[in-house]
Amino acid sequence: MSFAFVDAPLDRAEHLRNDPTALAALWPQARLLLLDAEGLALADAQDALLEVRGGEVAAALPSDAVFLGLDGGRGWFVMPAEAVDLQAPRRIALRAAAAAWPVREATAFAQARAVLHWRSRHRYCGACGGGLAFERAGWLGRCARCSIEHYPRTDPAVIVSVSDGARLLLGREASWPAGRWSVLAGFVEPGETLEQTVMREVFEESAVRVTACRYLGSQPWPFPSSLMLGFEADAGPDEPVPNTDELEAVRWFSREEIGAALRGEGEVQLSPPVSISRWLIEHWYSGPH
Ligand SMILES: [Zn+2]
Repeated sequence: MSFAFVDAPLDRAEHLRNDPTALAALWPQARLLLLDAEGLALADAQDALLEVRGGEVAAALPSDAVFLGLDGGRGWFVMPAEAVDLQAPRRIALRAAAAAWPVREATAFAQARAVLHWRSRHRYCGACGGGLAFERAGWLGRCARCSIEHYPRTDPAVIVSVSDGARLLLGREASWPAGRWSVLAGFVEPGETLEQTVMREVFEESAVRVTACRYLGSQPWPFPSSLMLGFEADAGPDEPVPNTDELEAVRWFSREEIGAALRGEGEVQLSPPVSISRWLIEHWYSGPH
């Protein structure tokens, strides 16, 4: 599969999270990602990941450093940029880095952005309002008042290429650039199976009834904390009707129209290649028809 944030992950080395001696030994030479409050990474003048070792910003492992994992024998950590006294020529967004950075670094950036976002939005206990103290190298927040444990959150969402056998169903939101169309997507609700989410979301957004669906693959999508679960689905040739709370328009596209859009011809713009959305469309287009 070819989309961002999947390949070349760090070895998360979960057994080291409770080993402060090992983490302290990794720290001085560790690769350090620094992300600002908007989730942008500090970068050098060429927009590459700023080359910073842990020992350059603090002699000892700081309490707000999160251990991301190992790359060979080298540790990788992330910290909020505001926590260190260091200037960088540039800041880069994750979407731009996904298209430009080496795969290892882009995947680590996605992991770093997701875990830091969770920490920035979970500073207090949801049960009693007490402050959280982070343990396990940053991956567990424990309430200082009631001791409840809080773990990083990921929000599952389905993203689905729906076909009636000959055509592909795409929708567009009113806020998107002119000509942009995409496969349908929606969040999983509590108590729901993924297959039920696929059927509910497609029907809610387009009034098209899915008869079967198959899981194809997933993509971390930390904007800010989603996991996109990619499906392909079969449907009858229902006439699509957009749910205008979510979509401005939804319609069937012929194989010829999709082929032209993938080649960059015509007015239809598909999602960029970093996304599983684009991959689902390419997968459908290259399949049997
Ligand atoms: Zn609490």
